[in-house]
Amino acid sequence: MKRYYCKQCNGKLFIINSKTVCPKCSKLNILSKEKSLDISKKRAQYLEKMFWSFLSKHKKGALLVHFANWREELAYSFLEKVPLLETYKFLATNYLLIKIRDKVRFGSKDLNPVDSKRILELFAEFLRIKEETLKINEGFGLLAYKKRRYNLKKAKDLLSNFYLITSVDLKEIFKYYRDYGVYNSKEAEKVIAKYKAEYEKILKRPIKKIHYTPKSFFENDNFFRLLIQLDIAFGRNLLFAETLDFFYLKNKIEPSDLTRICNQIITKLKIPYKPPYPIGVHIKEFIGVLTNLFPKKYKELYNLLVVGDYNITSFPFFLEFGDMVIIFPRTCFLFYLFLHIFLHKELFDKKKNEVSYNFEREKMIDEFKSNGFKAKEIKTRSLQIDAVAWKGKTIYVTECKHWGIRHLMEHKRFHEYLERDLKGIVDGKKYTDRKPKEVVSLVEKVQYIKDNLNTYGLPKKAIVKGLIIVRDFYPIPKYKRVIIKNIKEINKLT
Ligand SMILES: [Zn+2]
Repeated sequence: MKRYYCKQCNGKLFIINSKTVCPKCSKLNILSKEKSLDISKKRAQYLEKMFWSFLSKHKKGALLVHFANWREELAYSFLEKVPLLETYKFLATNYLLIKIRDKVRFGSKDLNPVDSKRILELFAEFLRIKEETLKINEGFGLLAYKKRRYNLKKAKDLLSNFYLITSVDLKEIFKYYRDYGVYNSKEAEKVIAKYKAEYEKILKRPIKKIHYTPKSFFENDNFFRLLIQLDIAFGRNLLFAETLDFFYLKNKIEPSDLTRICNQIITKLKIPYKPPYPIGVHIKEFIGVLTNLFPKKYKELYNLLVVGDYNITSFPFFLEFGDMVIIFPRTCFLFYLFLHIFLHKELFDKKKNEVSYNFEREKMIDEFKSNGFKAKEIKTRSLQIDAVAWKGKTIYVTECKHWGIRHLMEHKRFHEYLERDLKGIVDGKKYTDRKPKEVVSLVEKVQYIKDNLNTYGLPKKAIVKGLIIVRDFYPIPKYKRVIIKNIKEINKLT
């Protein structure tokens, strides 16, 4: 049994004009997955061609600087105005920078504001269609058509006769993004308006200076909260995750290298710095700073961090432009935060587990109690039950999992893993690196409680049920009589 599936045909349910429909059973104007995918790919190809033919008329260097400046503005606004990152735009600027970096042929046209606006519009549309293709491919999207007769060779038909419809489960996931501070721009505006005064207060609070180590970084709760937000926002699908993947930098740089370089340039070279504008220094000065900070690896660092005419493999943290290097301090600070996820993954995972493990279990017991249940944790030498909760004649033997929105939740495999892990709790299988480990199953725990009602002072003749509480999203509502709910739904239990 799965949630969000049609009871008649067992196919996935979709949303069209805010109504839930089954594409198979309804006779609506919805295309099959194969047809949708084919058309979506054609749309993406068409837009990409149009986009590049327009873009490549311009000077390469000018384009790189332009989009890096735009990225710097986004980072500045996120760090110093409102802590809501416009993730889509931030992704777009990085994606564009990489694409431009990789292309060879460009023209000689200067970039004027009208052209730059046009580039952005075309690019936003292209990116939207790229995501559309991805959603269709993963089974979370289909195309619906307006006119029954169409000719795909006509651009007008190809681009405007079809629109994406999204599956109910993906819509459900989008709702949970907000709990992690990830908003679309419309929502963000509302949140900003609501909390503006509070944000301003937070921004004015002085930052305590402590000696930096990766470990001390993770002890800072503000940074940690930001990291969670960035992790969710930039790990949501492969379009994001592949653009912003930094595992290859492990053991080559430290996150703080980026901020150290920026600080050194601003303080030692006494370059006037007015955010959100970037800073330009002569290549020689830049290399001087690098040599001073990292005498042994300055060449390697230059190649890893600076994109230039002769260096098109690095990520564009810094840009070489003529005989200058352009520095983007706020972008560097944002990447300094973000790189901890990749370069200190063990510390990040450890902190995530600690925080959610303690917090979620206590929160769950409180939630039971405030809904009229009695609840307690039970630990014996051989098993642990996160909560036994009872009200009237029902006892819930509960396992609490802090699993919530994780990486790549806009991909089928996330849902498959989640389903596998939930079933594993009931069957007593714990999955790490695919090989399951045998653990005490929830079924056994239910039996243990049934056999020991007296020992724990539980009501006799009660019905004992298995229950799993997760943090937010779950793909199956029940498995082998064990009920699955999220923490907000405890009030629905009787
Ligand atoms: Zn159906």
